Amino acid sequence: MVDLLPEQTPIWQAIESLARTHFVRAGISEIRTPLLEATELFSKGIGEETDVVGKEMYSFLDRGERSCTLRPEGTASVIRAVLENGLLNKGMQRLWYAGPMFRYERPQAGRQRQFHQLGVEFIGLNQTRSDAEVIALAWNLLQDLGLNNLELEINSLGDEEDRKTFRSQLVNWLQSRESALDTDSQKRLLQNPLRILDSKNSQTQALLEKAPKLHSSLSKESQKRFASVQIHLQALDIPFKINDRLVRGLDYYDQTAFEITSPQLGAQSTVCGGGRYNRLIEQLGGPPTPAIGWAIGLERLILLIQQISQENPSGKAALLSKINHPDIFLINKGADAEKKALVISQELRAAGFIVELDCSSGAFNKQFKRANRSGARWALVIGDDEMRTGQIRLKNLDHSLKQNDPIQNEQLHPLNNLESLMESLRTQATPNKNN
Ligand code: ATP
Ligand code: MG
Repeated sequence: MVDLLPEQTPIWQAIESLARTHFVRAGISEIRTPLLEATELFSKGIGEETDVVGKEMYSFLDRGERSCTLRPEGTASVIRAVLENGLLNKGMQRLWYAGPMFRYERPQAGRQRQFHQLGVEFIGLNQTRSDAEVIALAWNLLQDLGLNNLELEINSLGDEEDRKTFRSQLVNWLQSRESALDTDSQKRLLQNPLRILDSKNSQTQALLEKAPKLHSSLSKESQKRFASVQIHLQALDIPFKINDRLVRGLDYYDQTAFEITSPQLGAQSTVCGGGRYNRLIEQLGGPPTPAIGWAIGLERLILLIQQISQENPSGKAALLSKINHPDIFLINKGADAEKKALVISQELRAAGFIVELDCSSGAFNKQFKRANRSGARWALVIGDDEMRTGQIRLKNLDHSLKQNDPIQNEQLHPLNNLESLMESLRTQATPNKNN
């Protein structure tokens, strides 16, 4: 689990704010659910045989001897909240969420025990257009974040019947070749055979080349459905690749499954994963209701943005991590001056300027050093002299300017009416070089 330090949070805020804009534009509302749920929600919803429930959950007994779990993903909680609060009575739900998730995994680049997801769920819609719209939401957001090197892979898992047919074909075929499988896949052969398709083991992958294919088990209807999703994606000009091995880690998916990956992320290459889950709501005690959603892993997204920013420091991705430096650093010393500075800083902030007030009462040269380090565009100086003359000193801290240009570098403004100061700040508001 990691701390996010002050220099890291601007990029998080930028992503969250852009995502919010995309969601508002698409008429999607935010939902916030507790981080802690009854363990049963996940064992019922995600499935006992999955890695997430089987080995990755943070579960414990609370003081009332109830088994509780820190949520490992968002979908089950969103569905629980939707059902508990009767939201489906109001019609279909288009929801988004963001926040920390917890999985006991081996930490490595792009894999943490507390990580963050941003996710979307469309509940109550089964039209293939909604599949395309949900995928487009993720794709467009990632494009808008400046990620231009992504790949969208899609697959159809068919319906429950299709999968039953396929499962028995696959198990039959693999059972006679069991010794060639990696140990994880051998275990999955009985419990969760479809997950073998998704094995990271290269020998297993080579063996699977000749195995029965999922698409040949799809019913006519499932095939038609999958084709229709593709037509809509083409209409939206979203490039995609069909990956017949793509099955998602959680049990509740059917029909459309998709992932957005980046070759730049190494082993942890999936930035966004999602799919249709038409049986989950019923499984959790609700009425049969179709739904589809995705989740973006924010840590992986940020790793990617950082890599792309390094390659192209003036690109869109690079701008996201810019830190908001102050417009004005207020240097002040002397009893009256300090009192006045406190008031002035509030007035300037109320007018929209970013102001850092030095509260140290330290020597002027020390305050000037801090002003330079702060990245502020301007230093505003008030001391005994300024109080006496009634004039405040404004100094330009942009060191790229000619130091001997007095007009550019230093001005005096009346202390008791900040209008002329503000006017000057606004008209000279060349973009802060440090920002
Ligand atoms: P993986 O195959 O990488 O373990 P997953 O199939 O378990 O991923 P999902 O449950 O679909 O992942 O979660 C959606 C996204 O959340 C992933 O694509 C990834 O970006 C992110 N994610 C999942 N687990 C972690 C983790 N432990 N640390 C950081 N990000 C994660
Ligand atoms: Mg995982």
